[in-house]
Amino acid sequence: MLKDGMHMETIAIHKGYDASKHEGSLSVPLFQTSTFSFPDAESGELRFSGQEEGNIYSRLGNPTVRVLEERMAALEHGAAALVFGSGMAAVSSVLIYVTKAGDHILCSRGIYGCTFGLLEMMEDKYSITHDLIKMDTEEMIEAALKPETVCIYVETPINPTMELVDLEAVHNVAKRHGLKVIVDNTFSSPYLQNPILMGADYVLHSATKYINGHGDVIAGILVGADEEDMSKLRLTVQKDVGGIVSPFDAWLMIRGLKTLHVRMDRHVSNADRLMQFLKKEKLVEDLYYPFDPNNPQYPIAVKQMKSGGGIISFSVMGGKEGARHFMNSLGLIKIAVSLGDAETLIQHPATMTHAVVPETERQAMGITDSLLRLSVGLEHPDDLIEDLRMAFKCLNEYLSTQDSSAAVI
Ligand SMILES: *Cc1c(COP(=O)(O)O)cnc(C)c1O
Repeated sequence: MLKDGMHMETIAIHKGYDASKHEGSLSVPLFQTSTFSFPDAESGELRFSGQEEGNIYSRLGNPTVRVLEERMAALEHGAAALVFGSGMAAVSSVLIYVTKAGDHILCSRGIYGCTFGLLEMMEDKYSITHDLIKMDTEEMIEAALKPETVCIYVETPINPTMELVDLEAVHNVAKRHGLKVIVDNTFSSPYLQNPILMGADYVLHSATKYINGHGDVIAGILVGADEEDMSKLRLTVQKDVGGIVSPFDAWLMIRGLKTLHVRMDRHVSNADRLMQFLKKEKLVEDLYYPFDPNNPQYPIAVKQMKSGGGIISFSVMGGKEGARHFMNSLGLIKIAVSLGDAETLIQHPATMTHAVVPETERQAMGITDSLLRLSVGLEHPDDLIEDLRMAFKCLNEYLSTQDSSAAVI
């Protein structure tokens, strides 16, 4: 149940919109406009000075975008939300907002490849340093703090190894030292995990993924726990750096968000079916999924997530060539980066999403050359299993031509 007494499923469909104020239009109207005309000159002055509510210019706010903001703020148990033109615009905006030259950012060991690139750039250009560390215990986090540390930035589950960060431990340390906590919640969506309830100050999403869910928009969303703080962020970084979303993309996301809970349930049940299949497959070496009871981090998963989500990572026999051969043998499952779409997608992190991460760091993160990341879609699970079965058969044939000991006869 959310703050205003409704369940998330209802919020995702109704929050922040009153059809009676829009000619009864059941669908939220698309305000595809760059600017708004003022009733008179005085009103323009009052709106610019903040003394009168009202629209000014779409970089400063747009009625279609506002509906999405209200829904996302409520779904993440936050005070306010801002929508951006990409997940990376949300990441860069919040990091610009909380840091200044000379500060230090403490990060979980695995972070999204472009977030890593952004942090490197901030270090080179603005002397804002960072460290990527394993965050298994409060002691480990505390030991890595510096006098100039201002925030802890984490992703959990971590892409693509599905390693978890204990959000409670992060919160306890942050509270003791007065640090801001930022959580990239893209992999779970607000349906499966709500970091603000566990003490985070900011939660962000690549809305390109589960929020929109249909693979036709690039966007980002930032939710904050404090209303005044978010209003300041809107009127400084978002307004002046300007990474805003188009009203049409916000409109598509409003449509996508309405089915978030239905889609997530199916992503999860399909992932569960595929896990059972992959567990029995002899050509699978390692398998990573947060809600696997064999996973040593299972207690953390159960504490902070409603379920394990729709992403499974696994490694196959035969190294990089084996992984390639396997992907090239799939038919229904598409080779593509991104995740959270209706279509099941597979990618090879070592040469695709994490190619920018230096080899030694990649190995330390557990991203081997034979690791594959599967974003389980909404197709019938039997059809997906059949596609995987065929690809394993091809892999087995390939391995038997390479090295007879690797193939399972
Ligand atoms: C995709 C992704 C991003 C970046 O989002 P874009 O919408 O592509 O800019 C950030 N974090 C995670 C975990 C992602 O999967």
